[in-house]
Amino acid sequence: MSETIFSKIIKREIPADIIYEDEFCLAFNDINPQAPVHFLVIPKKSIATINDIEEQDRELVGHLYIAAAKIAKEKGFADDGYRVVMNCNESAGQTVFHIHLHVLAGKPLGWPPYTDKL
Ligand code: 5GP
Repeated sequence: MSETIFSKIIKREIPADIIYEDEFCLAFNDINPQAPVHFLVIPKKSIATINDIEEQDRELVGHLYIAAAKIAKEKGFADDGYRVVMNCNESAGQTVFHIHLHVLAGKPLGWPPYTDKL
């Protein structure tokens, strides 16, 4: 598995504003936030994209969502609401090829405009 900026964050080779860590995952604030709250939840295991998730990763991927909800509850925005997104490959905007949940909150979250409807 190739090295990414996120595997370097896991190994503490580059700094990040880490807000949560356990045996299986790490969460840290996004360097370029798109909302008042924007953090990433990543597995410690390197998996490049959603397409590379295997059956053996079933619990790990579920764990990322449980960690996201735990942080949302601890930070007090769980009841107000938040969005969890994982991009897959270039057309979806994936730029770091180590899977990660984006967790966004703190403002009304619309969908991107789609003007090409028939
Ligand atoms: P993607 O576009 O792959 O879905 O999301 C990658 C995210 O990682 C982006 O929102 C980007 O701002 C964030 N990011 C990229 N490099 C770094 C970094 O070095 N530190 C942190 N904290 N976030 C990063």
